[in-house]
Amino acid sequence: MSVLVTGGAGYIGSHMVLELLDHGEDVVVLDRLSTGFDWAVPEAATLVVGDIADQTLVEELIRKHDVDAIIHFAGSIVVPESVSDPLGYYLNNTVKSHSLIESAVRCGVPHFIFSSTAAVYGSPARFPVGEDAELRPESPYGTSKMMTELMLRDSAAAHDFDYTALRYFNVSGADPQLRTGQSTKGATHLIKVACETVTGKRSHMEVFGTDYETPDGTCVRDYIHVSDLVNAHYLALRRMRSGGGSLVANCGYGNGYSVLEVINAVKDVSQTDFDVQISGRRPGDAVAIVAEAERCRRELSWKPKYDDLRQIVTHALNWEKKLAGRNRQ
Ligand code: UDP
Repeated sequence: MSVLVTGGAGYIGSHMVLELLDHGEDVVVLDRLSTGFDWAVPEAATLVVGDIADQTLVEELIRKHDVDAIIHFAGSIVVPESVSDPLGYYLNNTVKSHSLIESAVRCGVPHFIFSSTAAVYGSPARFPVGEDAELRPESPYGTSKMMTELMLRDSAAAHDFDYTALRYFNVSGADPQLRTGQSTKGATHLIKVACETVTGKRSHMEVFGTDYETPDGTCVRDYIHVSDLVNAHYLALRRMRSGGGSLVANCGYGNGYSVLEVINAVKDVSQTDFDVQISGRRPGDAVAIVAEAERCRRELSWKPKYDDLRQIVTHALNWEKKLAGRNRQ
């Protein structure tokens, strides 16, 4: 029996592979290596380079490796890019997920975990936002993920198949042992960008908008450590295997930090005063979004270990320094 991880060579996927291997699971990774790296997949896992929409390949893998669960990370994740290329996002995130779900149903894979996003909520009417809030995505990225959640919901109702959709808040940090981390080229995520500015990969960074209706005018997000996040997936897998059924749950800590607070934390942890420039709002950004995090804790008995912004920043920074050292060699 094994677990198929799509996008397992990417940032979150490679942490998931480690989490599964650490728990003694057999893992097959399917990744087309468009943004991921083959070196990010440990040798103990089987890496297959290919597309999730290649149904012949996917169904062959499911049968050959006796796959009982698919954990689906493969997709595009940059909100402003989705605003300028909506059809690319609907293709990668929605159409290809349809194909993968169809393969899962056809082969009788009983469990499916989907990497969804807090972007399905848009700018919620109240904080923190719970799973039953209205879904009003404000970007094609959020809409593309919401559509996949709906396909899973309806497929689970029609077929013998359970799913867990985990709605990620802002995933950051790196494996504390630095076996993997965020290596994406041209990364746009705040903590990654700030850490790249510390190591000198960037000369400066920008704050996108200081005129939001928040205490300091910058957007507020709920930053969650990637290792806690993948642990929630492992617990979700165990829950489904023991008959827990389908679940939709937020993955965040319930703490909101503004862009300026995050930048100050990075400056403080790194003891570096890097150049920060104020710039205009970025298309597709929601003002503020913080998770109501109880369901994940309750249903999965999830006990996060790294619920601390400075800890997240420390691990992200350590990984960035490791990458910078590797690139200098
Ligand atoms: N942000 C910023 N400068 C950057 C990257 C991000 O000001 O270089 C802001 C962005 O506008 C948003 C917040 O940081 O308000 C979080 O953005 P990120 O891209 O990390 O995650 P998102 O919430 O878009 O998924």
